[in-house]
Amino acid sequence: MESLVVTDLQKKTEANVRDYDVAIIGAGPAGLTAAIYSARYGMKTVFFETVNPASQLSLTPVIENFPGFEGSGFELLERMRHQALKFGAEHRFESVEKLRKINGSFEVITESGVYRAKAIIFATGGEHRELGIPGEREFVGKGVSYCATCDGHFFRGKRVLVVGGGNTAVTDAIYLKEIGCQVTLVHRRDELRAEKALQDELFKRNIPVIWNSIVLRVEGDEKVRKAVLLDRIENREFAVETDGVFIAVGIRPATDMAMDLGVERDSAGYIKVDKKQRTNVNGVFAAGDCCDNPLKQVVTACGDGAVAANSAFEYVKMMGS
Ligand code: NAP
Repeated sequence: MESLVVTDLQKKTEANVRDYDVAIIGAGPAGLTAAIYSARYGMKTVFFETVNPASQLSLTPVIENFPGFEGSGFELLERMRHQALKFGAEHRFESVEKLRKINGSFEVITESGVYRAKAIIFATGGEHRELGIPGEREFVGKGVSYCATCDGHFFRGKRVLVVGGGNTAVTDAIYLKEIGCQVTLVHRRDELRAEKALQDELFKRNIPVIWNSIVLRVEGDEKVRKAVLLDRIENREFAVETDGVFIAVGIRPATDMAMDLGVERDSAGYIKVDKKQRTNVNGVFAAGDCCDNPLKQVVTACGDGAVAANSAFEYVKMMGS
């Protein structure tokens, strides 16, 4: 099987290798900013976008803390993508299957071909985390969702629980309330992690919160009917009738692909970078939510992307001299 795969890759390599200075894997705010900067530095740039994981930003209904912009995450991303294309970066809607380093440059192997680049920027973001409880997987698409903007409209006028206490959970709860759902937030502690401005919006809308509670299981028939919760203080189980359960308990970095190149990650799977967004592998950089940066916001992802592109530029220039 392995030899078959290699033969396949060899065929792709011989058929249509395309050469670039920089290949950026990911098209969220970090990847698109890196593409804008990289193209403006005059480097031949390609960026790859895959459906899974879609950028977390594209799923965010409202952005209020990106300087100079207020609107949906999708709209912000569209503007960034347009800007990257305007400066000459090439967009490939192709899933990256494998990466390898050959003779000082890198090969990005996708389902459709092989791209050779002098430098790589990982901007792969993260995927939603699951609760890992009974009923969760079974009811995905039948009441369990990880995306309020994608699925919220199915629940207008209906009861939904949002699970989590971070920015995503609170943003989702506010959005679902705004579109006409009967929302209750469920959080495992007695205080929210979300920033204060979002908490204020939540309480202003009188969205009830079930504190100190975790969801033990989701139950239903052809669709979700209830969630069984555990009050962690009283150690008491109770059921809440609901039509939907929106799970927003954080992200898991999408960094497995970085292993192909020997890139170091921390114990939680985030790519280790220095102040110049350099990884331990020469010519490989990382930006945004996939790396071990202290703050995960759109604005910091953009900052990381700009720094990564600048470092890639220095690296490519040095290679050529
Ligand atoms: P997050 O900040 O990691 O929060 C995850 C939340 O889920 C926490 O409240 C956590 O509880 C809870 N949680 C985790 N595992 C759980 C479990 N097994 N059962 C029950 N609850 C669980 O994740 P996020 O809200 O998705 O945000 C991810 C990053 O994106 C953050 O850095 C965030 O600031 C950023 N973000 C920013 C914005 C914005 O600025 N508008 C919007 C969305 C996301 P504990 O609090 O008890 O740990």
